[in-house]
Amino acid sequence: MSQKLLLATRNQGKIVEFRRILDALAPGKIELVGLDQFPDLHDVDETGSTFEENALLKAREMSEATGLPAIADDSGLCVDALNGDPGIFSARWAGTHGDDKANLEKVLEQLTDVADENRSAYFICVAALYLPNGKSHCEEGRFYGTILKSPVGENGFGYDPIFQPNGLAISSAQMSSEEKDAMSHRGKALRAIAPHVMSALSSLG
Ligand code: IMP
Repeated sequence: MSQKLLLATRNQGKIVEFRRILDALAPGKIELVGLDQFPDLHDVDETGSTFEENALLKAREMSEATGLPAIADDSGLCVDALNGDPGIFSARWAGTHGDDKANLEKVLEQLTDVADENRSAYFICVAALYLPNGKSHCEEGRFYGTILKSPVGENGFGYDPIFQPNGLAISSAQMSSEEKDAMSHRGKALRAIAPHVMSALSSLG
């Protein structure tokens, strides 16, 4: 019998990606469900002061609300010349939650006088697993690169148009989703947590 696991997101793309990763490890063992199956659940306030705290907060609240083991992730962009900002404030850096264009324009403006060699940055993602017995586990993934001078590319979301991954001559908004999954912070964090999910869920029976 397959074991249900909640992925605390309404993003169908994230669900499809994580299902692929879990199925590669143990086909058919885990039935991944998204928040679309729980329309009454409200969004969790991200009140933590680190990515890990926020990811765990979301996984715990969603697990407690549904009674299911749950995975949540928290991610953002850390720019070295900005001392790690926007960091946990990435989604609302310019004031309004989710205004991707305003957020990336603010970062570009803050880096106006910063030379190419000092524009290093990384995306980070922490994936948290929370079990109904109160046990939890986190894994982190990072995606290193530099901040471009102006946006390029139409794919992806958030800061992708101004992020050039190390070793590539294109922005992450010019990568296909498969290429990005293979290198990205989220892909790495989800691939790292997947074996822990498998062993934790098999011990739950
Ligand atoms: P959340 O983890 O879904 O809350 O995302 C936080 C914010 O970080 C997003 O709104 C984006 O601004 C930024 N971000 C996280 N991952 C990526 C990415 O892969 N590309 C571009 N922006 C990202």
